[in-house]
Formats: sequence, structure tokens, C-alpha cells
Amino acid sequence: MPAAKKPAARRAHRPKKCPDCKGTGEITETVRVGPRKGRATADQQTSLCLTCLGSGDAPTD
Ligand SMILES: [Zn+2]
Repeated sequence: MPAAKKPAARRAHRPKKCPDCKGTGEITETVRVGPRKGRATADQQTSLCLTCLGSGDAPTD
């Protein structure tokens, strides 16, 4: 057994940041118009991150 012991990870207090929104809870996406969303406009909009639902924390499973 190795002498060095790894300290137990304290992840209860600090969850990982959401990879999609970088922990901000919001994502910036290009506004697309048209029935197939095939045409991108120059505008960008901020919307709620659907990965973490705005919490900024990486989803756990
Ligand atoms: Zn997120």
C-alpha cells in the first residue's frame, strides 16, 4: 500500500462547473431564423443553459 493517502474529495460544496456555460448558467447562441433554423443572423442571444438549467453546476449522474 502506498504511504501517501489521497484526501477525500470534497465535492459536496463545490460541484464542477457546467461545461456548456462555464458555470455561468447562461449560454450565448447565434440567433437563427427560418423554419429550419438554417439561416444564422449576426445577432446573438443569451439563454438559459439547458445542461444545468441555469445553476452553473455540472450535471451529476
Ligand atoms: Zn450550464
